[in-house]
Amino acid sequence: MNTPPPTLWIVIPCYNEAEVLPSTAPLFLTKLQSLIESRTVSPESRICFVDDGSRDETWSFITQLSAESSLIVGLALSRNRGHQNALLCGLMEARSFCDVSISIDCDGQDDIDAIDDMLARFSQGNEIVYGVRSARDTDTPFKRKTAESFYRFMQKMGAEVVFNHADFRLMGKTALDGLSQFGEKNLFLRGIVPLIGFQSTTVEYERSDRVAGKSHYPFAKMAHLALDGITSLSVKPIHLISTTGIIFGCVGLIGLVWALATFASGNSIPGWTSTLSAIFLIGGLQLLSIGVIGEYIGKIYLESKDRPRYLIKERVGF
Ligand code: UDP
Ligand code: MG
Repeated sequence: MNTPPPTLWIVIPCYNEAEVLPSTAPLFLTKLQSLIESRTVSPESRICFVDDGSRDETWSFITQLSAESSLIVGLALSRNRGHQNALLCGLMEARSFCDVSISIDCDGQDDIDAIDDMLARFSQGNEIVYGVRSARDTDTPFKRKTAESFYRFMQKMGAEVVFNHADFRLMGKTALDGLSQFGEKNLFLRGIVPLIGFQSTTVEYERSDRVAGKSHYPFAKMAHLALDGITSLSVKPIHLISTTGIIFGCVGLIGLVWALATFASGNSIPGWTSTLSAIFLIGGLQLLSIGVIGEYIGKIYLESKDRPRYLIKERVGF
């Protein structure tokens, strides 16, 4: 006997995307319709747009889409909570209805045709399928280098992330149930999802340019995301600080012995420059170390408040 096709929910976070949605939303809809027609997924499948507190016409456009097609549902958050929280909200809502979810950006950068491959891997028993960028040919060498060092640095710092994977990902119901049990407020899904486990695999796709609008992740925000990701997932930076402290302590001790010996021999010299450099070096290092520890304390503070990660203001099409 044939097993019925799974119910798919495509979760799409949107923030101020009124410029891009009119061109990409029809593509998502056509995709889902063809998947339903080919009986790859069930007719109960949905596209779920999550409006992350946009200030433009995004929400009214989603409402309109949902009125036009029963395949489209929408969620509006009470305010802007960031990509990761918006995505989590969509996935947690989808969990009650779907057998399998796919998260994708709304700007047309992720190749929607990779969805077929992802579903094929899911039917082969994979609970999580990571969309991985095959080539970075379209990027400038600078962007490519910084992005690659981003992943290397994250891995060196003890945050296990899938190389060249953003948030284009398939997750089965079991994996979503697993995700729902991770209570942290500091969300970095790319780092948390690998911790869920289960059988997983990757699918390669080519990432194109944004269809319209501009990125919400310029370099500074990327760097912040990296720092956030690392301090949310590992305490390696704190170990590094202690190790550096020990090394500097030893060097300092040797220096002290040497200074005393020079003093005893009677030819101590006025070393203004070297003293000043040492002060700067140690001062800088201390500030950096305190900063890193502060990041962790800040995280503990936020986690201990146990605030909700998002609040839903409105639903359409449910
Ligand atoms: N996004 C969001 N909330 C935010 C910022 C971004 O929901 O506060 C969404 C955005 O609409 C898009 C996705 O997250 O669908 C990825 O954002 P963007 O394309 O700006 O990032 P990039 O692809 O440049 O890394
Ligand atoms: Mg994008």
